[in-house]
Amino acid sequence: MRYSYQRELIKDIVRSSKTHPNAEWVFCEAKKKVENISLGTVYRNLKILENTGKIKSIHDDNQVRYDGNIEDHHHLKCVKCGALIDTDIQSNFDRKKIMDDYDFEPNEVKFFILGKCKKHTK
Ligand SMILES: [Zn+2]
Repeated sequence: MRYSYQRELIKDIVRSSKTHPNAEWVFCEAKKKVENISLGTVYRNLKILENTGKIKSIHDDNQVRYDGNIEDHHHLKCVKCGALIDTDIQSNFDRKKIMDDYDFEPNEVKFFILGKCKKHTK
């Protein structure tokens, strides 16, 4: 199946990248394997992969980046180059407490630890 091949390919690209790429980057990588793939196809498959829990998206300022690491984790973000670095710090907030105390349904914690990556600390 052509479409599932493309979806697998896109999933593999995101999963094998540690850089938290955006859709354009995934598109460029996918093009190396499937010459006639369109950006629309990449976007559509990224959405499907996200909706089915195969990858995660990160809203980083005004761009969406994709994360193949679907474990609960937070990121260090370099303010110089924008690098996002995975950590094993988790967002284990008490969902029920927030719902009970604030009558608010939490979906996502946006939490970057800002600083400088090793290329920019010297
Ligand atoms: Zn990550």
